[in-house]
Amino acid sequence: MTDLCPCVCCNNPLEPAQQFRFLVETDNLGNPAFLARIRTLPTRNGKPVPVCKACQTRIESTPAKPARPQPTQALTSSLLGVFGALSLGLLLGSFLTSRS
Ligand SMILES: [Zn+2]
Repeated sequence: MTDLCPCVCCNNPLEPAQQFRFLVETDNLGNPAFLARIRTLPTRNGKPVPVCKACQTRIESTPAKPARPQPTQALTSSLLGVFGALSLGLLLGSFLTSRS
């Protein structure tokens, strides 16, 4: 394996790390579970696309897909909701018990 594939975006030679990822991901196309865990390169028609690091960063920073919900924000608001309900319950509880 001497000839390196060029980047599909800018046609520059891939960095050794990107080349290695491409080879490993291509090698594991028949092993989707493993591939899903190691996959870092963008895919086209289910196949890894050889791109250099610069292009990959550019692709990843381009909002091509709908924005993912922020997991931390969702978690915080749901936690706040839980705590709010809990403290309200406690307040009501102590209020009711103090009156009886
Ligand atoms: Zn490139």
